[in-house]
Amino acid sequence: MQDRSTTLFARACAVIPGGVNSPVRAFGAVGGIPRFIEKAQGAYMFDVEGRRLIDCVGSWGPAILGHAVPEVLEAVASELDKGLSFGAPCEREIEMPELLTTMIPWLAQVRMVNSGTEATMSAIRLARGATGRNKVVKFAGCYHGHADCLLVNAGSGALTFGNPSSAGVTRGGVADTLVLAYNDSEALATVFTAEDDIAAVIVEPVAGNMNLVPGRAEWLREMRDLCNRHGAVLIFDEVMSGFRVALGGGAELYGITPDLVCYGKVIGGGMPVGAFGGREELMRELAPSGPVYQAGTLSGNPITMTCGIATLGLLKARPDLFIDLETRLRGLLQAWQRSAAEVGIAFSWRACGGMFGFYFADRPPMNLEQVKACDAGRFRRFFHAMLDAGVYLAPSPFEAGFISAAHDRAVVDAMIATADKVFLEQMR
Ligand code: PMP
Repeated sequence: MQDRSTTLFARACAVIPGGVNSPVRAFGAVGGIPRFIEKAQGAYMFDVEGRRLIDCVGSWGPAILGHAVPEVLEAVASELDKGLSFGAPCEREIEMPELLTTMIPWLAQVRMVNSGTEATMSAIRLARGATGRNKVVKFAGCYHGHADCLLVNAGSGALTFGNPSSAGVTRGGVADTLVLAYNDSEALATVFTAEDDIAAVIVEPVAGNMNLVPGRAEWLREMRDLCNRHGAVLIFDEVMSGFRVALGGGAELYGITPDLVCYGKVIGGGMPVGAFGGREELMRELAPSGPVYQAGTLSGNPITMTCGIATLGLLKARPDLFIDLETRLRGLLQAWQRSAAEVGIAFSWRACGGMFGFYFADRPPMNLEQVKACDAGRFRRFFHAMLDAGVYLAPSPFEAGFISAAHDRAVVDAMIATADKVFLEQMR
């Protein structure tokens, strides 16, 4: 008999292109049928067959406190009977930017949107509007959502499917996008010498869309200096890394202040959200106070704001969480590396707050080319063996991993024991 996920996937494929609403969910990089999820709780997801899975994806980042956190669910439930959306101002949508600007000291103003894609595309429009320039610099392997001008050499699902850019994106749409190698200082200096029309540089300071590749501190400092000197807007895309690698994301880790920042994921607590913000004089260029148009029917939705505010409130009360998570990850990944070494498999890793990367390669990669050189076949085997044994990893070697506050000692120990068995019995 077919299992229920197989039946559901066939049903989905009839009415949804490829059976999914976001490409990476389709298991294209690893093969097989995606698991359909019934519910999630703490560190676990439960598929429709009733199998319990340790979740290392966390909804691709938001679930930093674990799934279905009682305080967050209660906050949302108590807001529901006031109505779901007003299309007029409400107090909740002030509270969220107030909270963000308190938690991130250099952040002055914030505009709420509904996804990370909206945040990055709006930040770029704002940078172009404010500078009167056209060109945008991005880095190979960074993914900033699916706006046309950013879908060049993008990471994440775009990489997984081998479409560095996408059909339907015109040459004109990407003509003003300049793509450089990640972590390459020389390329960065050269582009500013060659081009005088650069409106913005957009970067994931800790890249999580070509597996996990952190920016070199020196490279990011050079980027900050070059933007200052040439009057370009530095945009940190912290949709994934914000409130995930540290409370203040990569900006806090590196001690570098961008001109604009984009958030998403964690700040919505699992509901659809995005935000971008920065210095007041820059943000004031946005409509209705300025000439750069940007809008959203459901932006600042009161239920989403409530969910995000409750999540951020809990995070704020746990300043040690990011160090805790990184310590747990270090223990976990060192153990995985030992198990791999026992069977002679090249394995390396990184941990950064609540995010991790592991690579079937001797050394952790520094850019997209090096990520592509890791052993994808080994990843596929490891992924399926771990899934069959109850550990749900990101279904692609180009994605980072995520753990949560709910991944306690017992959960981490279970992941260590599972991987040890998998390496010994299935990876030789
Ligand atoms: N920027 C980064 C760094 C991301 O990781 C993502 C999504 N994974 C996005 C932007 C796009 O966000 P969304 O999927 O919410 O549009």
